[in-house]
Amino acid sequence: MKKIGIMGGTFDPIHYGHLMTAEAVRDEYKMERVIFIPAANPPHKAGTMITPAVHRFNMTLLATCSNPYFEVSDIEMRRRGPSYTIDTVQELINTHSSNTEFYFITGADAVQELPTWDRIEELLSICQFIAATRQGCIPDVDAIKKHFGTLGEKRIHRLATPELEISSTNIRNRLKKGYSIKYILPESVEQYIRKEHLYLT
Ligand code: NAP
Repeated sequence: MKKIGIMGGTFDPIHYGHLMTAEAVRDEYKMERVIFIPAANPPHKAGTMITPAVHRFNMTLLATCSNPYFEVSDIEMRRRGPSYTIDTVQELINTHSSNTEFYFITGADAVQELPTWDRIEELLSICQFIAATRQGCIPDVDAIKKHFGTLGEKRIHRLATPELEISSTNIRNRLKKGYSIKYILPESVEQYIRKEHLYLT
């Protein structure tokens, strides 16, 4: 079986924490590649102000283009309505050979909300999950694994990523206050943010 990582997130904006996490997972699980998929309409963020998907997609492209194992997909931008992960994974399964195993990589905070996700049991049966944990999140991932019983024990994994101390929220707040964001995200992404006047309000 070949393994492909699906790096799902709002990426508002993408930063080195995301990039280091994706590379650490690829390395650890010996994945063929990692596909970054910016969520066009994150289901749990309806009514929340997020940056237009085209900007988040462009920043993700800029951030990942130097890594030959990374690619970016607009699969969720081409679909209307909420970006349910089950629809995304099913579309990927339909367009890849049957000897491919998919791993959805996301933050442990997001994984804690799994019981509320659309058709979650079905999703867990077709794709594994890797929860990137910040310090302090470890017991919560265990609780979620238990919640789903054998399925959870087998298909939800945890990877400690201290690099995730960086957060998109923190970057947005720094920009609003006029603080530097150097060395937290790629320079090309910073230039894009400045050129497009993002995160000023
Ligand atoms: P979020 O709630 O903004 O993020 C939760 C936490 O996880 C944040 O601390 C975030 O840090 C971190 N995080 C997000 N993506 C990450 C990644 N790929 N690797 C490491 N850490 C990450 O979550 P989100 O980004 O909006 O959503 C995560 C994914 O879950 C998206 O693909 C979304 O579509 C999917 N989702 C699906 C459903 C559903 O199908 N019903 C429901 C909820 C979420 P940063 O803020 O620094 O990124």
